Amino acid sequence: MGRSGQDTGSALGAVMGCTANDVAAALRAAADTMAEHRGELTDLDRPIGDADHGENLNRGFTALAGALSEAVPDTPGAVLKLAATTLISKVGGAAGPLYGTAFLRAATAVGQAEELTEATVKAALRAGLDGVVARGKAEVGDATMVDALAPAVEAAEAVDDGGVAAVLAAAADAAERGAESTTPLVARKGRASYLGERSVGHLDPGARSTALLLRTFAEVER
Ligand code: ADP
Ligand code: MG
Repeated sequence: MGRSGQDTGSALGAVMGCTANDVAAALRAAADTMAEHRGELTDLDRPIGDADHGENLNRGFTALAGALSEAVPDTPGAVLKLAATTLISKVGGAAGPLYGTAFLRAATAVGQAEELTEATVKAALRAGLDGVVARGKAEVGDATMVDALAPAVEAAEAVDDGGVAAVLAAAADAAERGAESTTPLVARKGRASYLGERSVGHLDPGARSTALLLRTFAEVER
């Protein structure tokens, strides 16, 4: 994610890869986003859950930013793996294992490469979605983070030769629309599903946090 300074910008970003330091920068930015949106995410989780989603993610991403300030692993895949293990151990709830699995599968998908490219970012997003679905068994329309992530992956894959920046921007746009789409739905997975029809009219917190994460990754890109 070539955060390469004022004089480069997205044209160069489109051809440059995304190094371990770029991935680390994106995850540090995600920690800032989660801190900033902690109250909002917890408020979304209050009426249909247990009012902890913002706290959970803030705790996990703060720990991740701390680990990255000690040392940045050598490859993008190793950084994603550190994200996975940190989120699994620190986030808790449903979201910890789900996000952890997403990052773990993404790490595996990118392998040992020194830099992420448009193709490997798409592969990482697809692998992350597959991991969330394997773990949580939710489908699109169940009012979960899958409603944000699945359309994000489709949109990312539809970008043709636009570079990492365009892929992430398309993913973020689709994730935001996908998150909004959860409001009228009956939740069928997770705590919100205990409410049945009473979950209607509430935006899913995990879908919102997925959209926030992808928007953050897209914006760090430039
Ligand atoms: P908990 O529900 O354990 O308190 P969080 O509040 O941190 O955990 O996360 C809740 C979010 O997790 C939900 O808004 C939803 O997006 C996501 N989620 C819960 N269960 C599933 C599932 N089976 N598949 C996909 N996402 C899920
Ligand atoms: Mg909760």
